[in-house]
Amino acid sequence: MSAPSSPPLAGPLEGKSPFELRLDQSAGAPELDVRSALATGDVGFLHSFTTGSAVDGPGVRVVAWTTSCMFRCRFCHNPDTWTLSNGMAVPIAVGVEELRKYAHGLKVMKGGFTLSGGEPLMQHRFAARLLRAAKGLGLHTAIETNGLYSEKLSDAELADIDLVILDMKGFTPAQHRRVTGAEDNSRILEFGRRLASLKRPMWLRYVLVPGLTDVLEEMQQVAAFAASLGVVERTEILPFHQMGRYKWERLSLDYTLADTAPPSPEAVADAVGIFRAAGLNAD
Ligand code: SF4
Repeated sequence: MSAPSSPPLAGPLEGKSPFELRLDQSAGAPELDVRSALATGDVGFLHSFTTGSAVDGPGVRVVAWTTSCMFRCRFCHNPDTWTLSNGMAVPIAVGVEELRKYAHGLKVMKGGFTLSGGEPLMQHRFAARLLRAAKGLGLHTAIETNGLYSEKLSDAELADIDLVILDMKGFTPAQHRRVTGAEDNSRILEFGRRLASLKRPMWLRYVLVPGLTDVLEEMQQVAAFAASLGVVERTEILPFHQMGRYKWERLSLDYTLADTAPPSPEAVADAVGIFRAAGLNAD
């Protein structure tokens, strides 16, 4: 994208939460500009920035939510982030300024910056540049990713990320396909091994969906794999919820979990127990 000469923001960058439905914030951007933006990272596409998150890494976090994702997880609570053009076009300098505003407070509160999505590595050049800038501001940096495009980051770029929060959807290719609609998860497992060899800290996330991901053998295999890496500091079992349901309906998407209830506290405790039994610090 050529350097924007006028303010590119179609709406307020700061969102109340990622659960706000945001559509078509950069619709109409010329295709060539979009391709150039993705290639250089001069401009990123963001659903929103949110402040004050206590659930996206250690301490209090500012979170930038990117748009675009290659998966179609049946439990996704932010399907409006699947489409790049639903994000606002944000020049890298604007993103860095946004972080600079909060940098002092985040450091005082021992928090930091998390890049999430969507899938942030769909915009890997923007992601790498924003994370490096955050590091330059002295912030603790984290990325929440499904890991599929991790090879787009060099080892030096990974070193700018203090914490990788890896969302694993399953262990076997069949289960991965059942949950995400995508064929192959070997690159995700490879990413875990790469982080282990680089000794980079990881958190693991696993969304517990009754009837979909509460498969004992899958959880045991994910847990054993994660434990074998030796760098997973924490495992979070996230109970499925219906906060994203209205987005699926508003977007006329086929939501197969409309009748699925959140897991019971006992089911969550059982899942936590499986990960703990593998030797992980799970909650
Ligand atoms: S990887 Fe994340 S953003 Fe993408 S479809 Fe799955 S849950 Fe949604």
